Amino acid sequence: MRRTTIFIGSGSWETPGFGDSHPLAIPRVASVVRLCEALEWLPPEEFRQSPRATIAELERFHTPAYVAALAEADAAGIASVAARTRFGIGTRENPLFPGVFARAAAAVGGSLLAADLAVRGHLCFHPEGGTHHGRPDRASGFCYFNDPVFAVRRLLERGVDPVLYVDLDAHHGDGVQEAFRGDPRVHTVSIHERGRWPYTGAAADRGGGRSWNFPVPAGFGDGDLEFLMREAVLRIAARVAPAGIVVVCGTDGLAGDPLSGLALGNAALWDAVLALVATAPAAVVLGGGGYNPWTLARAWTGLWARLSGRPIPDTLPEAARRVLAGLACDLIDEDRIDPAWLTTLADAPRAGAVRAEVRDLVPDWEVVTT
Ligand SMILES: [Zn+2]
Repeated sequence: MRRTTIFIGSGSWETPGFGDSHPLAIPRVASVVRLCEALEWLPPEEFRQSPRATIAELERFHTPAYVAALAEADAAGIASVAARTRFGIGTRENPLFPGVFARAAAAVGGSLLAADLAVRGHLCFHPEGGTHHGRPDRASGFCYFNDPVFAVRRLLERGVDPVLYVDLDAHHGDGVQEAFRGDPRVHTVSIHERGRWPYTGAAADRGGGRSWNFPVPAGFGDGDLEFLMREAVLRIAARVAPAGIVVVCGTDGLAGDPLSGLALGNAALWDAVLALVATAPAAVVLGGGGYNPWTLARAWTGLWARLSGRPIPDTLPEAARRVLAGLACDLIDEDRIDPAWLTTLADAPRAGAVRAEVRDLVPDWEVVTT
């Protein structure tokens, strides 16, 4: 099915966030936008500004006390001991920085808009979304609110039922799985590195009965993902027959990310996302983690190209190379910067044998029911 594609963004990428020493302090969506502009892939008619979610909207999932605590800490520029201990605000993990509330509320607003546009036949990419660890009453894992939950809920409110949520970030989509525990309308799938924070999402963890978890080993590569998509995730999608799908596409599963041991190439990730959005009439694609500024910028720019039907050049023109050459990251040594990260968008395919541990994750479809 061919849908018109919309890139949703808040513009908050122009303002640095997360302080100096946080993994999210690197340029992220800013570089994606600049790369897309350098490639002339972001004409005004394909871009929509994300509105900021209102307090009333935020309180439909988050507790009023938590929403108020984040707003107050942001306004005061300091988190009280209570805000830190009760709500996880102002910690090393979830630091306080100027504009944190507006940025988090815009991520929610963008996901609400993406769901609304999806119902009207658009395919939206909202890379500032994907804050999948946020809890109703606390910040968690660099996430203040949980915008994917809002995207799923908005689809449900619009009569889209059932909804499939698929999380391709390197970390377990714990906040989203928990939010829909016991809800018969929502099925969740998460592929994530085993033994990584938040240490949940074991294969046997079925949430409230409609969650699937695929904890994969370090080194998980293109062949593994292609196998797992074909043998498990797309089979789940076929059984669920979703009316709507929300995909979280963090780039921290790509080779070279400093916070994971997975080894995917970006084309495998793009193929997975494209296969997923084709399974439902209404589809939303969100961002997520990703801590290598080069692999992130290339992956999400290329994903936008694939979603919007643009061919990806073998080598980048000078204007796009300048964007990649201008990036820096304290977590990545200079000698670990792959020269291809500076001149290309698509990674070379990393075909490899499917690991036995990945084969073992495929359910026995003769006996399971979804
Ligand atoms: Zn992650």
